[in-house]
Amino acid sequence: MTDSPTETAKPGFLSDVTVELVKHSAADSDVLWAARVSTAGEQSLEELTKDPERSKGLINYLMRDRHGSPFEHNSMTFFISAPIFVFREFMRHRVGWSYNEESGRYRELQPVFYVPGQDRKLVQEGRPGKYVFVDGTPEQHELTSRVMEDSYRQAYEAYQEMLAAGVAREVARAVLPVGLFSSMYATCNARSLMHFLGLRTQHEQAAVPSFPQREIEMVGEKMEAEWAKLMPLTYAAFNKNGRVAP
Ligand SMILES: Cc1cc2nc3c(=O)[nH]c(=O)nc-3n(C[C@H](O)[C@H](O)[C@H](O)COP(=O)(O)OP(=O)(O)OC[C@H]3O[C@@H](n4cnc5c(N)ncnc54)[C@H](O)[C@@H]3O)c2cc1C
Repeated sequence: MTDSPTETAKPGFLSDVTVELVKHSAADSDVLWAARVSTAGEQSLEELTKDPERSKGLINYLMRDRHGSPFEHNSMTFFISAPIFVFREFMRHRVGWSYNEESGRYRELQPVFYVPGQDRKLVQEGRPGKYVFVDGTPEQHELTSRVMEDSYRQAYEAYQEMLAAGVAREVARAVLPVGLFSSMYATCNARSLMHFLGLRTQHEQAAVPSFPQREIEMVGEKMEAEWAKLMPLTYAAFNKNGRVAP
């Protein structure tokens, strides 16, 4: 897998991330089917649509009592484009996840970089574990955008200079910053996604608060919105039970 060198592209600066649900086989009925095989054996598929209230109750019971395995019989594949520093955090989630990321060895990396938007709280106050983030001033926003963009341009020029001189992509990429966008496919199931969301989003219904970096939370929020549409009963039970993965 190799790409021929392209013409030098102009750096682009983004303040948002992209999340697309590209493939899925995920429904509340998958949870019910898996749970009911315990008691109903092969007949369990027929039971699914009989009594919706009972189905809702069963999903809630499984969530509340942390019977987690029935939430694993489903699959969601997301395309995600986000800065490398988000992927560093993301790939710490090992269990129930599969990843494939674009290669900086096989292709020339494109100059798309992250710059915080105006709504991104810029100033950190407090001590580790007790941080609070507050709005930056217009001057801090202006400085952040300007310094980041200058630094990104300089780094990308250095990358291009090395490529033009024949240095291998895998060597030249060392000068690129973690604000560079990368892309990946991430496949998970509802149980592994719930564990991720419990740690990487903040939510008023969370029984155990977490304090994720805003940019991975932006990815999590978009994944959550897709998942909520696919498995509304499971999603409601997750929230009702404090957003703790079963
Ligand atoms: C707010 C926040 C701050 C963080 N800060 C840091 C930091 O400063 N430095 C840092 O290095 N990381 C940090 N992390 C990453 C964190 O330590 C975890 O690696 C990450 O959240 C993935 O969680 P996990 O291991 O539970 O998930 P997964 O890897 O998906 O594992 C899921 C579950 O499987 C079980 N499991 C998986 N592997 C093992 C194992 N080897 N042994 C026993 N049980 C296992 C555990 O029950 C685990 O919860 C931070 C995470 C968050 C949310």
